[in-house]
Amino acid sequence: MSEGHRVIPILASSFERRKAARPDPSASLRGQSLGPVQDKLGRPITDLRISVIDQCNLRCGYCMPKEVFTKDYQFLPREALLSFEEIEQLVKAFIPLGIRKLRITGGEPLLRKSVEDLIARLAQLKTPQNLPLEVALTTNGLLLEQKASALKAAGLQRVTVSLDALDTHLFRELAGVDTGEPKQVLAGIAAARALGLETKVNMVVQKGVNDHQVLPMAKAFRDMGDTLRFIEFMDVGNANQWRLDQVVSAGEILHRLESEFEFEPVDRAKKHDVAERFIYKDRPVEFGVIASITRPFCSDCSRARISSEGLLYTCLFANNGTDLRAVLRSSSSQDELSAIVRGIWGLREDRYSELRQSSADRLDRQPAKVEMSYIGG
Ligand code: SAM
Ligand code: SF4
Ligand code: SF4
Repeated sequence: MSEGHRVIPILASSFERRKAARPDPSASLRGQSLGPVQDKLGRPITDLRISVIDQCNLRCGYCMPKEVFTKDYQFLPREALLSFEEIEQLVKAFIPLGIRKLRITGGEPLLRKSVEDLIARLAQLKTPQNLPLEVALTTNGLLLEQKASALKAAGLQRVTVSLDALDTHLFRELAGVDTGEPKQVLAGIAAARALGLETKVNMVVQKGVNDHQVLPMAKAFRDMGDTLRFIEFMDVGNANQWRLDQVVSAGEILHRLESEFEFEPVDRAKKHDVAERFIYKDRPVEFGVIASITRPFCSDCSRARISSEGLLYTCLFANNGTDLRAVLRSSSSQDELSAIVRGIWGLREDRYSELRQSSADRLDRQPAKVEMSYIGG
C-alpha cells in the first residue's frame, strides 16, 4: 500500500465524488407526496445512523486493519465533515419521512470534539407526533468513562459498546494497538449504566480468533446484567479480507451457549430490530445474536446511513452514496432536502445480505464497497 493511500470512500477524490450522485434540488419538489416514505420493497425508513468522524483510536482487524489504516492514511479533512448544525438540518429533513431513531457512530464518535453538543441538539428534536427521537451512540468505550456524564446530560438515552475479548493480550491484538485494556471499556460501561443510560455490548465473533471468548463474555455480562449481542463477522468493506470460513454462525454460538446456560427466545421488541433476542431462565438478563450472514434480515431493514462528509447510503454494503452535503451547502430548503431523500429511498431495492446467500459469485464481481469506519456501523 502506497503512502497516504485512502480506501474509505469508493470515489477516490472529492472531485470525483462531486461528480457522482449529486441530486438536483430544483427538480426534487415536483410531484412530491407527504408523510412517511417506503422503498420499492415496502420498507419504511425509521432509523438514521450518522457517522461523525472517520478516524478511530483502534485498528480492529475486521474494520480498520492497521496494515491499511497506517499513520500516513489520509482521513477526511476537518472542513469536509458535516458541522453539527448541518447534521441537525439533515435530521430535520429526515423526520417527516419516518425517522424515529438516531444513532451516532463512526469511526470512533467520542473522538469528535464536543460530540455531546451534537447530542444535545438532536435530543431536542421531535417527531410529527411531538415525541422525542431516540438518540443512541455506538462506541469502542475507551473514552466512555470520562464522557458518560456529559453524554447523559446532553440527552443520550442508549449506548452500545463494542468489546471482543476480556483478555488484555487478545484485546490489544484484535484492536491492533499496544496499549488499552478491556477494564477501561468495562469502566465506561459501568459509568454509563450508573448514570441510567441503557447499555448494550457488541462482540464480533471470528473463528479461531476470539470464539473461545464467547462463554467467558456471556458469563461476565450475564453477571453484570448487561445485554451482550454476538455479531457474525461481516464482509463489509474490502479492507478486512473477509472469508466465509472465518464466520462463527449464530446457530453455532447458540449451541455453545446451550452447553453452559438455559435460556429461551424473547419476541423482538420492534419489527425492525436486527438482533434475535434471548433471556436466561434463571435471571432477567437478555442476550442476542445478529446473524447478518446466516439469517439475513434485509426484508425488515429500515436503516439509512450518513457518512461523516454527508453522503447518504441506503445499505451497509453499498458502493455508492448520494452527496447530501452539496445540497446542504447550496441554498436548498429543508423541504427540498426531504424531497431528495424521499426520491432516493423510494427507489431503494438493496438486499445485499439476502443476495449474498443466493449468489455469492455475482457479489464477488461487484464494485468495491464502502468501509464500515467511513459509513458508520
Ligand atoms: N468505533 C465504534 C465501535 O467500534 O463501536 C463505532 C463504529 S464501529 C464501525 C460500529 C460497529 O461495527 C462495532 O460494533 C463493530 O464491532 C462493528 N463492525 C465493524 N466491522 C465489522 C465487521 N466486519 N463485521 C461485523 N461487525 C463489524
Ligand atoms: Fe474503530 Fe469501531 Fe472500527 Fe474498531 S470497529 S476500528 S473501534 S471504528
Ligand atoms: Fe439492510 Fe443492506 Fe444489511 Fe440488507 S444488507 S440488512 S439491506 S444494510
